[in-house]
Amino acid sequence: MNTRTTFLGLGAMGTALAAAALDAGHSITIWNRTPHRSQALGESGATVADTVKEAVAGDGVIVACLFDHRSVHDVLDPATAGLSGRTVINLTTTTPKQARELALWAAERGITYLDGAIMAVPQMIGSPGSAILYSGSATAFEEHRALLDLWGESSYFGSDAGMASLYDMALLAGMYTMFAGFMHGAAMVGSEGVSATEFATWATPFLAAMTGGLAGFAAVIDAKDYAGEGQQSLEFTETALAALTRASIDQSVNVEVLKPVHDIVRRQIAAGFGKQGTARIFEDLRSTR
Ligand code: NDP
Repeated sequence: MNTRTTFLGLGAMGTALAAAALDAGHSITIWNRTPHRSQALGESGATVADTVKEAVAGDGVIVACLFDHRSVHDVLDPATAGLSGRTVINLTTTTPKQARELALWAAERGITYLDGAIMAVPQMIGSPGSAILYSGSATAFEEHRALLDLWGESSYFGSDAGMASLYDMALLAGMYTMFAGFMHGAAMVGSEGVSATEFATWATPFLAAMTGGLAGFAAVIDAKDYAGEGQQSLEFTETALAALTRASIDQSVNVEVLKPVHDIVRRQIAAGFGKQGTARIFEDLRSTR
């Protein structure tokens, strides 16, 4: 199938998405606020539009990959008249609340809306390991699946437009705190002159192996089985975190990354759960809605 697709936003990610569509033989129209970013794709066969209104003038699907929620409104609001009856796939990173606001905004204007969260960097688009999470219109997801699958593995999380973003943000929360943990470890060994590169050769396989424990934590959390057999207790974890904190201070390393975790564990122990499993940290964090 050869679909004419409009791409709004040709930053690093928008360019990678548009290039993959063009390489696969799709006819594409492109627009970017700063015109020079359209040049290379224009020379490769994309139709370059001077304005958003011109870009959305056809009848194909519209893919937006802009900076943030505000910039999506900045670009789409003035072009609303040309969007009624059309499908917008928004791959701009937004919060779940912002994605839901955009879905409502679209519904009020007769626009079919699919929200996407890209779990890849631009260089990965179209390569193994690239994944994009979607939620919102099931029709749009099915109808444009061939296009979506050009970019990576496509997964659909239901009609609530905020769900793809919620998964995205939850996964990134895990990623950023793991990255910060790595930086902390690098600072510890760095205090004795060990390079971060050398440390990474040890941290990479160790942290990868430790992810094998996530399913076990998940099973305990879902069953609320914190008192079950075979779990590392909060008291044990507190002793470990106290040692890590002492060792860090001894090496003159800032303990700001460790402290919040240590504080939660101590709070749970103070509440009488010291003998229970470390997965109980979840109870301290979870929503009480
Ligand atoms: P860039 O900073 O490279 O590009 C941002 C794009 O948004 C540019 O096209 C820019 O236009 C446009 N833009 C910004 N503000 C406005 C505005 N007010 N009106 C019109 N256009 C605007 O970012 P990326 O391409 O890397 O990222 C795009 C989206 O993809 C982001 O939401 C990002 O979170 C997401 N993403 C990016 C990843 C990455 O690794 N890069 C990974 C996963 C998601 P101009 O050229 O004129 O400045």
